[in-house]
Amino acid sequence: MKAKLILFLSLLIVFFTMTSTTFAAEAGPARRDLIHLRILETTDLHSDLMNYDYYQTKVDNRIGLVKTATLIKEARKESKNTLLFDDGDHLKGNPLGEYLARIRGMHKGKIHPVYRAFNYLKYDAIAIGNHEFNYGLGFLKTALKGAKMPVLNANVYSVKTNKPYFKPYTILKRNIVDQSGIPHEIKIGVIALMPTHIMKWDKSNLEGKVFANPMVETAKKYVPRIKAEGADIIIALAHTGISSQPYHPDTENAVYYLTQIPEINVVLAGHSHSVFPGPVYEGLPNTDLETGIINGKPVVMAAAFGSRLGIIDLQLSHQAGKWQIVSQKSYTKPIADETGRSLVKTDKSLYNLVKEEHEETVDFIKKLGL
Ligand code: MN
Ligand code: MG
Repeated sequence: MKAKLILFLSLLIVFFTMTSTTFAAEAGPARRDLIHLRILETTDLHSDLMNYDYYQTKVDNRIGLVKTATLIKEARKESKNTLLFDDGDHLKGNPLGEYLARIRGMHKGKIHPVYRAFNYLKYDAIAIGNHEFNYGLGFLKTALKGAKMPVLNANVYSVKTNKPYFKPYTILKRNIVDQSGIPHEIKIGVIALMPTHIMKWDKSNLEGKVFANPMVETAKKYVPRIKAEGADIIIALAHTGISSQPYHPDTENAVYYLTQIPEINVVLAGHSHSVFPGPVYEGLPNTDLETGIINGKPVVMAAAFGSRLGIIDLQLSHQAGKWQIVSQKSYTKPIADETGRSLVKTDKSLYNLVKEEHEETVDFIKKLGL
């Protein structure tokens, strides 16, 4: 009896050892040869650098890049390989943005505080959003002189040259390290897009100067070039929302159709100020809200005003010089809970870096007696 029990227990142990090794060989996270790449997104900041409500002249811990910056730093501490992108609509939307564009103006040699903040946080690339045109092309051009990272958009063209008005895409060469600390070179193609509606929304600023081509067609035109230039993976900075409504070239929300382009691996969404993955998107076809995947591609949208950080975690394999995405997951992290209580500290260095313009704006509002 005892011998039988021992035999049974030994068999049980053998069985569990076998299944666990088989599982370890197949499951993503347990594989030693995989390389983690983390992609971070801010979107629709609308010049909310500070955790401050200018309309009520008081602190508001539900908004502000000075808070998101702390999440960015935490996300970077957890992962050796990270990339940071902004998805556009960062210059306009609050009195700080208004004050800088309409009252104080941009001075020679001065960097706009939004780009000063982006430089400090070392963004890898940023997208132009539709609201970047609200103060006119002249202001935008002057302000952009201060941005140290690639500033991208592929579907706005110059009337004069019939060529892209901005840099349409970039290929970032990065050395990412595996679990043994060995670096591997990867080329990351980044393309950016925005709704063609800018021609209506900002008619007086744009007519006769630029025109907008459809987002999906533009992406399809560029991705083979980006691949031919050596990109291992392609990320779309898509300043556009998510909808499965039948496709139309002038759709405002093109993310769903961008995920269907085979060469695009990752989509950073924006423009509609909502949260993906999130309950708003319940019922979207071919979508997994647990992992944040639409049509097999990871997508993230980090709400607006710095209230959330978008995170996409990829596990990559690198064999015989070829990169492959083995697992993918997207999620967002908030800076405050539902009651508005802050969940993260303020990034003091960033606060000090932009406080001059912030204080000037508050003084200006108070002088107006608003
Ligand atoms: Mn916006
Ligand atoms: Mg927008």
